[in-house]
Amino acid sequence: MQMLYPFSGSIQQYNEQHAHSHGRRPCSCALCGEGKPLRAHGYYWRTVSEPGIDGRIRVPRYLCLACRRTISLLPEFVLPYMRFAITFIAAFLKARLLDHKTMTRSAAIAGDSAMPYQRGQQWARKFCCQASGLAAALAALTKPPPAPDFSARALTMLETAGWRRAHGFLFDKLRMHLLGWPGFLAPDGRRRTLSPSF
Ligand SMILES: [Zn+2]
Repeated sequence: MQMLYPFSGSIQQYNEQHAHSHGRRPCSCALCGEGKPLRAHGYYWRTVSEPGIDGRIRVPRYLCLACRRTISLLPEFVLPYMRFAITFIAAFLKARLLDHKTMTRSAAIAGDSAMPYQRGQQWARKFCCQASGLAAALAALTKPPPAPDFSARALTMLETAGWRRAHGFLFDKLRMHLLGWPGFLAPDGRRRTLSPSF
């Protein structure tokens, strides 16, 4: 299971701070509720890209000694299962869906004028599918504004609340993903236990 680690800096700052340390160890297990600190359990490398940067970060993993399951801690600039950092995706979605720029112009505003058209199209489609649920959930952080559609409302709320803060809230409290979980983890980011087939 993945959890978020509050971190307001850049990819480079994260790597500098976490080159030799294991990060913040969870003091309880979010999976089984055990109230004892989890044990450091290695790490893995993950790619996080921004325009012009293909960064790699070290993601620490922790083991719960009670339920024997692991939890990995992602910094808040990461969207699980997405290669690109939240700031880049946020800038693109705002330009495309709130300011109604063309796909190409939106990619340029976000900082990557060479971004494949299909990638932006996919992000916009995924966000629109989530928008009404996001807007409802974000009402816990900020007042819903009048808006012509759910996408505009959710984007305005994300801009007001701050994308990282909102992402942290949605992910940790509600297990919601800004662009929706991949099918094998839907609806809440957890793997289903498969029933035996007969
Ligand atoms: Zn546990």
